[in-house]
Amino acid sequence: MAKRDYYEVLGVQKGAQDAEIKKAYRKLARQYHPDVNPDNKEAEEKFKEVNEAYEVLSDADKRARYDQYGHAGVDGQGAGGYGGFGGFGGGAGGFGGAGGFGDIFDMFFGGEMGGQSGRQQARGPQRGADLRKDIEITFEEAAFGVEKDIEVVKPEACSACQGTGAKAGTTKKRCPKCQGSGQVRMTQKTPLGSFQSVRPCPDCDGEGMIIETPCPECSGQGRVRKRKTLKVKIPAGVDSDSRIRLTGEGEAGGRGGESGDLYIFIRVKPHKLFERRGNDVYMEMPVTFAQAALGADISVSTLDGKATLKVPEGVQSHTLLRLKGKGIPHLRGGGRGDQLVRIIIATPTKLSDKQKELLQEFSKLSGEDNYRSEKKNSKQKGIFERLFDKD
Ligand SMILES: [Zn+2]
Ligand SMILES: [Zn+2]
Repeated sequence: MAKRDYYEVLGVQKGAQDAEIKKAYRKLARQYHPDVNPDNKEAEEKFKEVNEAYEVLSDADKRARYDQYGHAGVDGQGAGGYGGFGGFGGGAGGFGGAGGFGDIFDMFFGGEMGGQSGRQQARGPQRGADLRKDIEITFEEAAFGVEKDIEVVKPEACSACQGTGAKAGTTKKRCPKCQGSGQVRMTQKTPLGSFQSVRPCPDCDGEGMIIETPCPECSGQGRVRKRKTLKVKIPAGVDSDSRIRLTGEGEAGGRGGESGDLYIFIRVKPHKLFERRGNDVYMEMPVTFAQAALGADISVSTLDGKATLKVPEGVQSHTLLRLKGKGIPHLRGGGRGDQLVRIIIATPTKLSDKQKELLQEFSKLSGEDNYRSEKKNSKQKGIFERLFDKD
């Protein structure tokens, strides 16, 4: 089946700003979310399509590839769809701040979609709420992957009563207050007259059935809070805002409904030397004036330990030198980014009389020719060349 254009999927123009794309995605994701459209295959397909489009268009690299090569440029990379990494892009801002674990996605992922649909579903199985757990990992762990033990405390189906809430060997019976309808009429007397309204039955919470003998293990709740340790494999190449979904590890569902999912939100601690941009690692490296002028092999830190960097003769301050393949592994396999070392020429601040003398001597022997590039018509002119150029 031919894929639709990702911009078309999100209903935005090709040159759309990131914020616009995010807004369009949020709206569509909410519209087609499986929790809002249970058992609706078409909505599910749309939801996947929207997520796939957003995964590509929200990532500057992928978007550039897509713009240039179309689907062929991102196939096999972007198609994680619902539940992969980064599917629900856009940072944690939209989900009501970064609380601890156990935050329920009330509007976005919620098992309970608020009053209306909550009431309609009141008697059927209810899917458990999705849970969120934030974890912090180091720069190196993000680069090379790590396995973490994650502890969650969450409601799980009570094993004594299989989640029914009725003591083992007993069953629920029809609620006598509402005769099983789950609803009761309430009459409210006010100075303006009497008003009748229909409310969920208070005895059975709208379920129509009541438990005669509650399960002693869970006091009839059908769920008990349990502490659980999960092993989570965090793949190499994740970054802050990557999300991992653990299917069925959210809260247990109610009335036999399926469990929600657990979303692990990853935050990567900043590194004291390295800064990440995409899959490349940037760092600054001071060199002496003499090393810059004469060229030198210097030792620099990389994610893999020390490496030798060739500083070319006459290098200018702030030049970026590349160490190929020393960056972050690509999340979906296939090579690594590079390390880019920004050369900073350090000016000495403490000089002996002898050193000063030699530098003054050097200065006397130097002229503007010493600052011209050897290569004529070199495209990369240094700042001095630009200053000295007469034309
Ligand atoms: Zn129980
Ligand atoms: Zn009732």
